[in-house]
Amino acid sequence: MAVPKYKTSKARTRRRRSINMAMTTPNLVACGNCGNKVLRHRVCPKCGFYRGKQIIEPQEMAD
Ligand SMILES: [Zn+2]
Repeated sequence: MAVPKYKTSKARTRRRRSINMAMTTPNLVACGNCGNKVLRHRVCPKCGFYRGKQIIEPQEMAD
């Protein structure tokens, strides 16, 4: 069985992980009804519209 000749340093491990395990920002698009930033292919949580139609009742955000 092949055995690594050298220990992988913390810096090397972290450099690799920073590339291969990097998180990507979600793909946000503006809602066609209210202009709110929403995830693609999702109903807008603010106005409840999707593809120009009212799909769900908008949820009141308790803050
Ligand atoms: Zn909207």
